[in-house]
Amino acid sequence: MSQDLYDLLGVSRDADAETIKKAYRKMARRLHPDVNPDPETQEQFKEVSRAYEVLSDPQKRAAYDRGGDPFGGVGGFGQGAGFSFTDIMDAFFGGAAASAGRGPRPRVRRGQDALIRVEVDLAEAAFGVDRELKVDTAVVCTTCHGDGAAPGSRPVPCETCRGAGEVAHVQRSFLGEVRTLRPCAACRGFGSIIPEPCRECSGDGRVRSRRTLTVKIPAGVDTGTRIQLTEQGEVGPGGGPAGDLYVEITVAPHPTFTRNGNDLHCTVTVPMTAAALGTTLTLPTLEADVEQGADSGVETSFELEIRPGTQSGADRVLKGRGVPGLRGGRGDLVVSVVVETPTALDPRQEELLRELAAIRGEEDPTGQVRPASKSVFGRLRDAFNPH
Ligand code: ZN
Repeated sequence: MSQDLYDLLGVSRDADAETIKKAYRKMARRLHPDVNPDPETQEQFKEVSRAYEVLSDPQKRAAYDRGGDPFGGVGGFGQGAGFSFTDIMDAFFGGAAASAGRGPRPRVRRGQDALIRVEVDLAEAAFGVDRELKVDTAVVCTTCHGDGAAPGSRPVPCETCRGAGEVAHVQRSFLGEVRTLRPCAACRGFGSIIPEPCRECSGDGRVRSRRTLTVKIPAGVDTGTRIQLTEQGEVGPGGGPAGDLYVEITVAPHPTFTRNGNDLHCTVTVPMTAAALGTTLTLPTLEADVEQGADSGVETSFELEIRPGTQSGADRVLKGRGVPGLRGGRGDLVVSVVVETPTALDPRQEELLRELAAIRGEEDPTGQVRPASKSVFGRLRDAFNPH
């Protein structure tokens, strides 16, 4: 060590013990690895700690002042780096931080959140439904009411730590006595011992139970929506407050409608003649899936006009016949029309069609080659990239 120890601490050679201590404390605050992990600073901290180790000890300081090797045969050389910032502060402030330890670990803690999945049909997702669910969670033990002690008994303060949950370990060092607190092994840090644990819950204060819960599923939910039910999850250890219960929704496929965000899609098939001549179709609404009172006034079906000359693949967009949004509004219903070509013609039908073809000059069609139609392509794209 080449540098002067007084210079290292920034004190004069005649500084008293208190001044030296103050100087080191100030530097320790700034340089300790817990505060400043930079390697260069750590090296500086070690050197400053070595200087303090010598100058804080009257005998070592005297030897150093006489020009002796201050570190000859000294144990615990540069120990300062091995203590935490808190340890050092404790040593200086008379264990102020130590006496403000964490205290006993609470036996009563908040429980964990729980998750259950529920499948609803499309109409339930769209319009909301009340659903009864069977929920398995930890609940407060009714035998001990959560404190984990058998009836007639009660938790008693731990004798080892006197209820503190922590025991002090004192280490002697050049810093003085360094107190560190560790969880009490006898009570595992709880500060109390349950001499006679409740048999029902083995002292945990909670037991598993199945209960039935009615959950209000709001209109507009979709697959992946999670409904949060505050404090309906797992009760915590020691009968602590329950975590939350999350109900995750899965929407079952519907035989008629597919859902795309808040829009519904369906496909209707019409005979070639109807597509050519025009017609009116009666289609079911999604509301038809929900049991309605006779005079509820809810439309269970609606009429869709197929205009004369409708092509296969034509989409009809019906505003506001989709799914209500969770935040209001309502999507559209998109009806795709598929024109069905007649098959298995009897002789009479064939004769009529040939006659029609002749009148329309279509007996020998050439067929036009052109790019894939926009609507077919668009629907394929939508099918692969639902938005
Ligand atoms: Zn119990």
